[in-house]
Amino acid sequence: MCYSIPGRVVSIDGCISIIDYFGEQRRAVNEISNLKVGDYIYAQGGYVIDAVPDAEAQEVLALWKELFFELQERDQHLSGFKRMDKRAGDRLSLILERIVADEEEVAEEELLYLLNLEGKEDIARLMQAANYLRHKHLGNSCCIHGIIEFSNYCRQSCGYCGISARNKGLKPYRMTPEEVVKAACEAIDKYGFKALVLQSGEDSAYSIDNLCQIVSGIREREPALIFVSCGEVGLPGLQRLYEAGARGLLMRFETSNSRLYEQLHPGRRLDSRLEHLRAAFDMGYLLITGGLIGLPGQTREDILGDISLTKSLQAEMYSFGPFIPHPGTPLANSHSPAAAEVLKALAVARIVDARNAKIVVTTSFETLEKDARRQGLSAGANSVMISLTPDALRREYTLYPDRAHLNESLENQISDLLEILSDLGRAPTDIGVSHTAS
Ligand code: SF4
Repeated sequence: MCYSIPGRVVSIDGCISIIDYFGEQRRAVNEISNLKVGDYIYAQGGYVIDAVPDAEAQEVLALWKELFFELQERDQHLSGFKRMDKRAGDRLSLILERIVADEEEVAEEELLYLLNLEGKEDIARLMQAANYLRHKHLGNSCCIHGIIEFSNYCRQSCGYCGISARNKGLKPYRMTPEEVVKAACEAIDKYGFKALVLQSGEDSAYSIDNLCQIVSGIREREPALIFVSCGEVGLPGLQRLYEAGARGLLMRFETSNSRLYEQLHPGRRLDSRLEHLRAAFDMGYLLITGGLIGLPGQTREDILGDISLTKSLQAEMYSFGPFIPHPGTPLANSHSPAAAEVLKALAVARIVDARNAKIVVTTSFETLEKDARRQGLSAGANSVMISLTPDALRREYTLYPDRAHLNESLENQISDLLEILSDLGRAPTDIGVSHTAS
Protein backbone atom coordinates (compact mmCIF):
# COMPACT_ATOMS: atom_id res chain seq x y z
CA MET A 1 0.00 0.00 0.00
CA CYS A 2 1.43 3.34 -0.97
CA TYR A 3 0.35 6.81 0.07
CA SER A 4 2.41 8.75 -2.39
CA ILE A 5 2.92 8.61 -6.15
CA PRO A 6 6.51 8.55 -7.43
CA GLY A 7 7.47 11.69 -9.34
CA ARG A 8 10.30 12.17 -11.84
CA VAL A 9 12.92 14.84 -11.24
CA VAL A 10 12.95 17.19 -14.23
CA SER A 11 15.35 19.83 -12.92
CA ILE A 12 17.52 20.56 -9.91
CA ASP A 13 18.62 24.00 -8.77
CA GLY A 14 20.53 23.84 -5.50
CA CYS A 15 18.26 22.24 -2.92
CA ILE A 16 15.15 22.77 -5.05
CA SER A 17 13.98 20.05 -7.41
CA ILE A 18 11.13 20.25 -9.89
CA ILE A 19 9.17 17.02 -9.91
CA ASP A 20 6.80 15.83 -12.62
CA TYR A 21 3.63 13.87 -11.77
CA PHE A 22 1.78 12.82 -14.90
CA GLY A 23 2.37 16.26 -16.43
CA GLU A 24 1.86 18.31 -13.23
CA GLN A 25 5.07 19.91 -11.98
CA ARG A 26 5.78 20.69 -8.35
CA ARG A 27 8.75 21.96 -6.37
CA ALA A 28 10.29 19.99 -3.54
CA VAL A 29 13.23 20.57 -1.24
CA ASN A 30 15.85 17.91 -1.76
CA GLU A 31 18.20 16.68 0.96
CA ILE A 32 19.43 13.58 -0.92
CA SER A 33 23.01 14.28 -2.04
CA ASN A 34 23.28 12.25 -5.24
CA LEU A 35 19.85 12.95 -6.72
CA LYS A 36 19.90 13.68 -10.47
CA VAL A 37 17.52 14.68 -13.25
CA GLY A 38 15.56 11.65 -14.45
CA ASP A 39 15.49 9.96 -11.02
CA TYR A 40 12.19 8.96 -9.48
CA ILE A 41 11.43 10.09 -5.96
CA TYR A 42 8.73 10.14 -3.30
CA ALA A 43 7.96 13.57 -1.87
CA GLN A 44 5.88 14.56 1.15
CA GLY A 45 5.03 18.05 2.35
CA GLY A 46 7.29 19.52 -0.32
CA TYR A 47 10.31 17.45 0.77
CA VAL A 48 11.98 14.74 -1.27
CA ILE A 49 12.01 11.89 1.19
CA ASP A 50 13.33 8.98 -0.85
CA ALA A 51 14.72 8.01 -4.24
CA VAL A 52 12.81 5.16 -5.90
CA PRO A 53 14.48 2.61 -8.19
CA ASP A 54 13.31 3.09 -11.81
CA ALA A 55 11.70 -0.34 -12.09
CA GLU A 56 9.71 0.11 -8.88
CA ALA A 57 8.59 3.60 -9.90
CA GLN A 58 7.49 2.42 -13.36
CA GLU A 59 5.49 -0.40 -11.78
CA VAL A 60 3.69 1.91 -9.35
CA LEU A 61 3.09 4.53 -12.05
CA ALA A 62 1.65 1.91 -14.41
CA LEU A 63 -0.84 0.96 -11.68
CA TRP A 64 -1.69 4.59 -11.05
CA LYS A 65 -1.78 6.04 -14.53
CA GLU A 66 -5.36 5.30 -15.53
CA LEU A 67 -6.69 5.62 -12.03
CA PHE A 68 -4.97 9.00 -11.58
CA PHE A 69 -6.85 10.55 -14.51
CA GLU A 70 -10.08 8.76 -13.63
CA LEU A 71 -9.95 10.17 -10.09
CA GLN A 72 -9.14 13.64 -11.40
CA GLU A 73 -12.17 13.52 -13.64
CA ARG A 74 -14.44 12.37 -10.81
CA ASP A 75 -13.16 15.12 -8.54
CA GLN A 76 -13.67 17.72 -11.24
CA HIS A 77 -17.23 16.56 -11.69
CA LEU A 78 -18.01 16.57 -7.96
CA SER A 79 -16.35 19.88 -7.17
CA GLY A 80 -18.17 22.00 -9.75
CA PHE A 81 -19.64 25.24 -8.44
CA LYS A 82 -23.26 25.72 -9.42
CA ARG A 83 -23.86 29.34 -10.14
CA MET A 84 -27.08 30.75 -8.72
CA ASP A 85 -29.24 33.53 -10.04
CA LYS A 86 -27.91 36.74 -8.67
CA ARG A 87 -31.18 37.60 -7.02
CA ALA A 88 -31.42 41.07 -5.59
CA GLY A 89 -30.40 40.94 -1.98
CA ASP A 90 -28.83 37.50 -2.19
CA ARG A 91 -25.67 38.51 -0.45
CA LEU A 92 -24.38 34.95 -0.20
CA SER A 93 -24.47 34.41 -3.98
CA LEU A 94 -22.63 37.65 -4.61
CA ILE A 95 -19.89 36.82 -2.11
CA LEU A 96 -19.46 33.23 -3.29
CA GLU A 97 -19.35 34.27 -6.97
CA ARG A 98 -16.48 36.63 -6.15
CA ILE A 99 -14.74 33.97 -4.10
CA VAL A 100 -14.79 31.28 -6.79
CA ALA A 101 -13.65 33.82 -9.38
CA ASP A 102 -10.68 34.78 -7.13
CA GLU A 103 -11.60 38.36 -7.93
CA GLU A 104 -10.39 40.13 -4.85
CA GLU A 105 -9.68 39.57 -1.17
CA VAL A 106 -12.72 38.72 0.83
CA ALA A 107 -13.32 41.27 3.57
CA GLU A 108 -13.18 40.16 7.20
CA GLU A 109 -16.78 41.20 7.67
CA GLU A 110 -17.79 38.91 4.75
CA LEU A 111 -15.85 35.97 6.19
CA LEU A 112 -17.67 36.51 9.46
CA TYR A 113 -20.96 36.57 7.56
CA LEU A 114 -20.04 33.14 6.13
CA LEU A 115 -19.20 31.77 9.58
CA ASN A 116 -22.55 33.09 10.80
CA LEU A 117 -24.59 31.24 8.15
CA GLU A 118 -27.27 29.06 9.71
CA GLY A 119 -29.46 27.60 6.95
CA LYS A 120 -28.62 24.10 5.72
CA GLU A 121 -28.77 25.14 2.07
CA ASP A 122 -26.60 28.19 2.59
CA ILE A 123 -23.98 26.15 4.42
CA ALA A 124 -24.06 23.59 1.61
CA ARG A 125 -23.36 26.38 -0.90
CA LEU A 126 -20.47 27.66 1.20
CA MET A 127 -19.00 24.13 1.30
CA GLN A 128 -19.43 23.81 -2.44
CA ALA A 129 -17.52 27.05 -3.08
CA ALA A 130 -14.72 25.92 -0.74
CA ASN A 131 -14.52 22.54 -2.43
CA TYR A 132 -14.36 24.24 -5.82
CA LEU A 133 -11.42 26.38 -4.65
CA ARG A 134 -9.61 23.33 -3.24
CA HIS A 135 -9.93 21.59 -6.60
CA LYS A 136 -9.04 24.68 -8.62
CA HIS A 137 -5.83 25.45 -6.75
CA LEU A 138 -4.62 22.14 -5.35
CA GLY A 139 -6.17 19.45 -7.51
CA ASN A 140 -7.30 16.13 -6.15
CA SER A 141 -4.34 15.15 -3.99
CA CYS A 142 -5.12 14.21 -0.42
CA CYS A 143 -2.36 13.56 2.07
CA ILE A 144 -2.69 10.80 4.60
CA HIS A 145 -0.55 11.15 7.71
CA GLY A 146 -0.15 8.40 10.27
CA ILE A 147 -0.01 9.39 13.94
CA ILE A 148 1.63 7.43 16.74
CA GLU A 149 0.55 8.56 20.21
CA PHE A 150 3.41 7.21 22.25
CA SER A 151 2.62 8.50 25.75
CA ASN A 152 -0.52 9.78 27.47
CA TYR A 153 1.33 11.33 30.41
CA CYS A 154 1.15 15.11 30.49
CA ARG A 155 2.37 17.62 33.05
CA GLN A 156 0.01 20.34 31.79
CA SER A 157 -3.58 20.94 32.88
CA CYS A 158 -5.37 22.25 29.80
CA GLY A 159 -9.00 22.73 30.75
CA TYR A 160 -10.49 20.74 27.85
CA CYS A 161 -8.05 17.84 27.67
CA GLY A 162 -8.77 14.31 28.86
CA ILE A 163 -5.11 13.38 29.34
CA SER A 164 -4.21 16.43 31.38
CA ALA A 165 -2.36 16.05 34.69
CA ARG A 166 -5.56 16.68 36.63
CA ASN A 167 -7.41 13.66 35.18
CA LYS A 168 -6.65 11.09 37.83
CA GLY A 169 -8.92 8.47 36.24
CA LEU A 170 -6.53 7.94 33.34
CA LYS A 171 -4.75 4.63 32.74
CA PRO A 172 -1.28 5.91 31.86
CA TYR A 173 1.06 4.37 29.30
CA ARG A 174 4.44 5.08 27.75
CA MET A 175 6.06 3.40 24.79
CA THR A 176 9.83 2.98 24.95
CA PRO A 177 11.87 4.75 22.25
CA GLU A 178 12.56 1.34 20.70
CA GLU A 179 8.81 0.56 20.59
CA VAL A 180 8.09 3.90 18.90
CA VAL A 181 10.79 3.33 16.29
CA LYS A 182 9.50 -0.19 15.65
CA ALA A 183 5.87 0.99 15.27
CA ALA A 184 6.96 3.80 12.93
CA CYS A 185 9.13 1.55 10.78
CA GLU A 186 6.31 -0.97 10.50
CA ALA A 187 3.89 1.79 9.44
CA ILE A 188 6.33 2.91 6.74
CA ASP A 189 7.53 -0.49 5.60
CA LYS A 190 4.39 -2.59 5.89
CA TYR A 191 1.62 -0.06 5.29
CA GLY A 192 3.40 2.46 3.06
CA PHE A 193 2.99 5.61 5.17
CA LYS A 194 5.31 8.41 4.07
CA ALA A 195 4.46 11.04 6.70
CA LEU A 196 4.22 10.32 10.41
CA VAL A 197 3.33 12.40 13.43
CA LEU A 198 4.90 11.36 16.75
CA GLN A 199 2.66 12.65 19.51
CA SER A 200 2.58 12.60 23.31
CA GLY A 201 1.51 14.75 26.21
CA GLU A 202 4.21 17.01 27.65
CA ASP A 203 5.94 14.07 29.27
CA SER A 204 9.20 14.90 31.01
CA ALA A 205 10.11 11.19 31.17
CA TYR A 206 11.39 11.60 27.60
CA SER A 207 14.48 13.79 27.44
CA ILE A 208 15.34 15.62 24.23
CA ASP A 209 18.00 12.93 23.78
CA ASN A 210 15.26 10.27 23.91
CA LEU A 211 13.11 12.14 21.40
CA CYS A 212 16.09 12.67 19.09
CA GLN A 213 16.92 8.97 19.42
CA ILE A 214 13.39 8.14 18.24
CA VAL A 215 13.47 10.56 15.29
CA SER A 216 16.94 9.60 14.09
CA GLY A 217 16.22 5.91 14.73
CA ILE A 218 13.33 6.11 12.27
CA ARG A 219 15.17 8.26 9.73
CA GLU A 220 18.17 5.93 9.71
CA ARG A 221 15.98 2.92 8.95
CA GLU A 222 13.16 4.23 6.77
CA PRO A 223 12.38 7.28 4.61
CA ALA A 224 9.56 9.43 5.97
CA LEU A 225 8.57 12.98 6.76
CA ILE A 226 8.52 13.10 10.56
CA PHE A 227 6.39 15.59 12.51
CA VAL A 228 6.94 15.89 16.25
CA SER A 229 4.08 16.81 18.55
CA CYS A 230 5.23 16.65 22.16
CA GLY A 231 4.22 20.13 23.35
CA GLU A 232 6.56 23.01 24.11
CA VAL A 233 9.99 21.39 24.17
CA GLY A 234 11.87 24.71 24.10
CA LEU A 235 13.74 26.28 21.21
CA PRO A 236 17.05 24.43 21.79
CA GLY A 237 15.04 21.19 21.91
CA LEU A 238 13.30 22.03 18.65
CA GLN A 239 16.66 22.74 17.03
CA ARG A 240 18.05 19.40 18.21
CA LEU A 241 15.00 17.55 16.90
CA TYR A 242 15.39 19.24 13.54
CA GLU A 243 19.02 18.15 13.42
CA ALA A 244 17.91 14.60 14.29
CA GLY A 245 15.69 14.62 11.20
CA ALA A 246 12.28 15.98 12.25
CA ARG A 247 10.90 18.29 9.56
CA GLY A 248 7.45 19.08 10.89
CA LEU A 249 5.86 20.32 14.11
CA LEU A 250 2.24 19.66 15.05
CA MET A 251 1.35 22.15 17.76
CA ARG A 252 -2.01 23.87 17.91
CA PHE A 253 -2.48 27.19 19.66
CA GLU A 254 -6.14 26.15 20.27
CA THR A 255 -7.48 29.72 20.48
CA SER A 256 -6.19 33.09 19.31
CA ASN A 257 -8.15 34.80 22.07
CA SER A 258 -5.43 35.39 24.68
CA ARG A 259 -7.91 35.79 27.54
CA LEU A 260 -9.60 32.48 26.70
CA TYR A 261 -6.18 30.89 26.19
CA GLU A 262 -5.06 31.87 29.67
CA GLN A 263 -8.33 30.61 31.21
CA LEU A 264 -7.90 27.22 29.57
CA HIS A 265 -4.15 26.88 30.05
CA PRO A 266 -3.35 27.77 33.67
CA GLY A 267 0.00 29.52 34.06
CA ARG A 268 0.70 29.64 30.34
CA ARG A 269 0.65 32.41 27.77
CA LEU A 270 -0.45 32.44 24.15
CA ASP A 271 2.58 34.56 23.21
CA SER A 272 4.98 31.87 24.31
CA ARG A 273 3.09 29.24 22.26
CA LEU A 274 3.24 31.47 19.21
CA GLU A 275 6.91 32.19 19.78
CA HIS A 276 7.55 28.43 19.61
CA LEU A 277 5.61 28.12 16.39
CA ARG A 278 7.32 31.07 14.72
CA ALA A 279 10.78 29.93 15.80
CA ALA A 280 10.04 26.42 14.49
CA PHE A 281 9.01 27.85 11.13
CA ASP A 282 12.23 29.88 10.98
CA MET A 283 14.23 26.71 11.69
CA GLY A 284 12.63 25.13 8.61
CA TYR A 285 9.81 23.13 10.22
CA LEU A 286 6.54 22.61 8.41
CA LEU A 287 3.80 23.62 10.81
CA ILE A 288 0.50 21.92 11.51
CA THR A 289 -1.50 24.21 13.73
CA GLY A 290 -4.97 25.56 14.42
CA GLY A 291 -7.57 25.51 17.13
CA LEU A 292 -10.65 24.14 18.79
CA ILE A 293 -14.10 24.99 17.48
CA GLY A 294 -16.90 25.52 19.99
CA LEU A 295 -14.97 26.19 23.18
CA PRO A 296 -17.19 27.62 25.93
CA GLY A 297 -16.90 31.40 25.72
CA GLN A 298 -15.57 31.38 22.16
CA THR A 299 -17.21 33.63 19.57
CA ARG A 300 -17.28 33.30 15.79
CA GLU A 301 -15.01 36.35 15.68
CA ASP A 302 -12.56 34.27 17.69
CA ILE A 303 -12.81 31.42 15.17
CA LEU A 304 -12.10 33.82 12.33
CA GLY A 305 -9.14 35.12 14.36
CA ASP A 306 -7.91 31.50 14.73
CA ILE A 307 -8.07 30.94 10.97
CA SER A 308 -6.29 34.24 10.24
CA LEU A 309 -3.62 33.45 12.81
CA THR A 310 -3.03 30.03 11.25
CA LYS A 311 -2.50 31.70 7.90
CA SER A 312 -0.16 34.31 9.36
CA LEU A 313 1.91 31.50 10.90
CA GLN A 314 2.37 30.17 7.34
CA ALA A 315 1.04 26.79 8.39
CA GLU A 316 1.58 23.86 6.09
CA MET A 317 -1.59 22.30 7.44
CA TYR A 318 -4.64 23.70 9.20
CA SER A 319 -5.95 21.57 12.05
CA PHE A 320 -9.37 22.62 13.35
CA GLY A 321 -11.40 20.17 15.38
CA PRO A 322 -14.46 20.46 17.60
CA PHE A 323 -14.27 20.84 21.35
CA ILE A 324 -15.69 17.63 22.85
CA PRO A 325 -16.21 17.73 26.63
CA HIS A 326 -14.35 15.08 28.60
CA PRO A 327 -15.93 13.94 31.89
CA GLY A 328 -12.58 14.19 33.70
CA THR A 329 -12.14 17.91 32.99
CA PRO A 330 -13.57 21.16 34.42
CA LEU A 331 -15.53 21.55 31.15
CA ALA A 332 -17.34 18.22 31.58
CA ASN A 333 -20.77 19.87 31.57
CA SER A 334 -20.21 22.00 28.49
CA HIS A 335 -21.48 21.06 25.03
CA SER A 336 -19.88 20.20 21.72
CA PRO A 337 -20.63 22.42 18.75
CA ALA A 338 -22.85 21.24 15.90
CA ALA A 339 -20.96 19.58 13.03
CA ALA A 340 -22.01 22.50 10.82
CA GLU A 341 -19.81 24.85 12.88
CA VAL A 342 -16.75 22.73 12.04
CA LEU A 343 -17.70 22.51 8.36
CA LYS A 344 -18.10 26.28 8.14
CA ALA A 345 -14.68 26.77 9.77
CA LEU A 346 -13.05 24.34 7.32
CA ALA A 347 -14.72 26.08 4.38
CA VAL A 348 -13.71 29.55 5.56
CA ALA A 349 -10.14 28.33 6.15
CA ARG A 350 -10.07 27.17 2.53
CA ILE A 351 -11.32 30.56 1.36
CA VAL A 352 -8.77 32.42 3.49
CA ASP A 353 -5.83 30.34 2.21
CA ALA A 354 -7.24 28.98 -1.04
CA ARG A 355 -4.00 28.34 -2.89
CA ASN A 356 -1.84 26.77 -0.20
CA ALA A 357 -3.65 25.23 2.70
CA LYS A 358 -3.70 21.60 3.49
CA ILE A 359 -6.69 21.25 5.77
CA VAL A 360 -7.10 18.13 7.84
CA VAL A 361 -10.30 16.36 8.82
CA THR A 362 -9.44 15.73 12.47
CA THR A 363 -10.25 12.57 14.41
CA SER A 364 -12.18 14.73 16.86
CA PHE A 365 -14.47 15.79 14.02
CA GLU A 366 -14.86 12.13 13.09
CA THR A 367 -15.81 11.49 16.70
CA LEU A 368 -18.45 14.21 16.60
CA GLU A 369 -19.85 13.33 13.17
CA LYS A 370 -19.78 9.82 11.68
CA ASP A 371 -19.64 11.11 8.12
CA ALA A 372 -16.97 13.73 8.89
CA ARG A 373 -14.44 12.55 6.33
CA ARG A 374 -16.79 12.82 3.36
CA GLN A 375 -18.29 16.06 4.62
CA GLY A 376 -14.98 17.67 5.59
CA LEU A 377 -13.30 16.68 2.32
CA SER A 378 -16.30 18.20 0.53
CA ALA A 379 -15.91 21.46 2.47
CA GLY A 380 -12.39 22.34 1.37
CA ALA A 381 -10.30 19.84 3.39
CA ASN A 382 -7.63 17.76 1.69
CA SER A 383 -5.90 15.76 4.38
CA VAL A 384 -6.68 12.94 6.79
CA MET A 385 -4.87 11.31 9.70
CA ILE A 386 -4.96 7.68 10.75
CA SER A 387 -3.90 6.57 14.22
CA LEU A 388 -1.14 3.97 14.18
CA THR A 389 -0.96 3.71 17.95
CA PRO A 390 -1.12 0.09 19.05
CA ASP A 391 -4.80 -0.87 19.66
CA ALA A 392 -4.53 -1.51 23.40
CA LEU A 393 -2.93 1.90 23.99
CA ARG A 394 -5.06 3.88 21.57
CA ARG A 395 -8.11 3.55 23.79
CA GLU A 396 -6.15 5.20 26.64
CA TYR A 397 -5.22 8.24 24.53
CA THR A 398 -8.43 9.99 25.52
CA LEU A 399 -8.05 13.64 24.62
CA TYR A 400 -11.86 13.39 24.40
CA PRO A 401 -14.21 10.47 25.04
CA ASP A 402 -15.51 7.81 22.60
CA ARG A 403 -12.89 8.50 20.02
CA ALA A 404 -13.69 7.40 16.44
CA HIS A 405 -12.25 4.18 14.98
CA LEU A 406 -11.42 2.66 18.37
CA ASN A 407 -12.62 -0.78 17.43
CA GLU A 408 -11.46 -0.82 13.82
CA SER A 409 -8.34 -2.61 12.70
CA LEU A 410 -5.75 -0.52 10.89
CA GLU A 411 -6.36 -2.50 7.70
CA ASN A 412 -10.08 -1.66 7.87
CA GLN A 413 -9.40 1.99 8.56
CA ILE A 414 -7.10 2.19 5.55
CA SER A 415 -9.46 0.40 3.20
CA ASP A 416 -12.48 2.49 4.36
CA LEU A 417 -10.50 5.67 3.84
CA LEU A 418 -9.32 4.66 0.38
CA GLU A 419 -12.92 3.87 -0.56
CA ILE A 420 -14.05 7.33 0.54
CA LEU A 421 -11.18 8.97 -1.34
CA SER A 422 -12.00 6.97 -4.45
CA ASP A 423 -15.70 7.91 -4.23
CA LEU A 424 -14.70 11.57 -4.02
CA GLY A 425 -12.08 11.33 -6.76
CA ARG A 426 -9.15 12.06 -4.48
CA ALA A 427 -5.72 10.58 -4.99
CA PRO A 428 -3.90 9.64 -1.79
CA THR A 429 -0.78 11.57 -2.74
CA ASP A 430 1.19 14.41 -1.37
CA ILE A 431 2.70 16.70 -3.90
CA GLY A 432 2.70 19.86 -1.83
CA VAL A 433 5.04 22.80 -1.96
CA SER A 434 7.27 23.58 0.97
CA HIS A 435 7.61 27.13 2.26
CA THR A 436 11.36 26.82 1.88
CA ALA A 437 10.86 26.03 -1.80
CA SER A 438 9.06 29.19 -2.74
S1 SF4 B 1 -3.73 19.56 25.37
FE1 SF4 B 1 -1.64 18.76 25.21
S2 SF4 B 1 -0.46 19.97 26.70
FE2 SF4 B 1 -2.62 20.23 27.22
S3 SF4 B 1 -3.04 18.68 28.77
FE3 SF4 B 1 -3.58 17.78 26.77
S4 SF4 B 1 -1.77 16.73 26.08
FE4 SF4 B 1 -1.16 18.09 27.73
